[in-house]
Amino acid sequence: MIIIKQTKDTIEDTVHDALSEIKYNPQHERVLIKPCIPSPCQVGAPYITNHRITAGVIDYLRQQGIKEIIVGEGPLRDYDRTFAVSGYEKMCKNRDVKLINLHHTERMGINWDYGELMIPSLILDSEYINIAKLKVHTSTTVTLGMKNQMGLLRKEDNKKIHLLGLHRPIAAMSGVVKPNLIIIDAINGEQGGPPGKHGQRVQDINLVICGTNLLATDAAASRLMGFSPENILHLKMASDMEIGDFEDEMKGVSLDECKMNFIPLTDHRRICNLYYHWTDETCSGCLGLMAEIRAFALSHPWHLGRFIRYGLLQRMDILTGKPKTISKTFGRILGVGDCMMDIAIEHGIPFVHGCPPRAVDVLRQV
Ligand code: SF4
Repeated sequence: MIIIKQTKDTIEDTVHDALSEIKYNPQHERVLIKPCIPSPCQVGAPYITNHRITAGVIDYLRQQGIKEIIVGEGPLRDYDRTFAVSGYEKMCKNRDVKLINLHHTERMGINWDYGELMIPSLILDSEYINIAKLKVHTSTTVTLGMKNQMGLLRKEDNKKIHLLGLHRPIAAMSGVVKPNLIIIDAINGEQGGPPGKHGQRVQDINLVICGTNLLATDAAASRLMGFSPENILHLKMASDMEIGDFEDEMKGVSLDECKMNFIPLTDHRRICNLYYHWTDETCSGCLGLMAEIRAFALSHPWHLGRFIRYGLLQRMDILTGKPKTISKTFGRILGVGDCMMDIAIEHGIPFVHGCPPRAVDVLRQV
């Protein structure tokens, strides 16, 4: 069952109404809620699950008599700041709910297609609610409920999944880690921009999607964004692996009524003449490096000068992951991150070690 609900009154009330309409009835005494808050973003940013959606779920669970509720996330960096600026710290405190960093929680191994997967032990004996954000992604086109589960993993496993091919491991993980409830925060969203641009906000969508089947809920959210689930590799693979179906009983606002046309992200970001490229193998470590390089350059005059020289006056291409080809249109090339090492050696490309490398080391090589 999937419901798409238009927000009215408050976001918390909308979530409550949606869960009531699908008659969601938690089956465990303890609940683990996993929102998407990968990095420090302000309240309402289209990159994180709005804390008010999570608050609405908590209020509903309390009404159902659930006493032990835990909100857990494994952010990519700046853990404390991530929880503080996103509104989660305050919201959880006000509702007397424990907020935990999943990087510091006990883990257990479960079997999956690639050996043993270490997941938070809590998941195994709790009701597990996955609250994702409606947004596009550099490698997986969309990042919804299935992709949100990567935040359950240890950092080293997150990197490994990229190197294992990303799409199939995400699909396989959804076959062994199955949320009891999936919610997609579509209050706003994030799409790509014109070629080279990154992360544009899509305002005023004002929808909440709730479902009990991970694949079908992601498929519905993809359609809402204007993408066919058949064309989203990890969704298609999950379907081919018979982990679930694209279709489920739908309630609420019809998809035809709310369908949009999200712009996908390209495989690079461009600032003037500086191009930053990624592949499926590029994990969030090297993806997040672009912003760090820019911030570091802006705060150091010497680096800023070099940044301007190569970012404005001459073309420079920074490569991450495992590019299949080195285009003739590239300008001066710099390989970044250990994933690039073999290719850099093969093509004689200057290279910066690290997993991920430090922004300052990249700037020294620019
Ligand atoms: S080198 Fe970069 S992309 Fe590769 S695993 Fe390390 S951080 Fe991720």
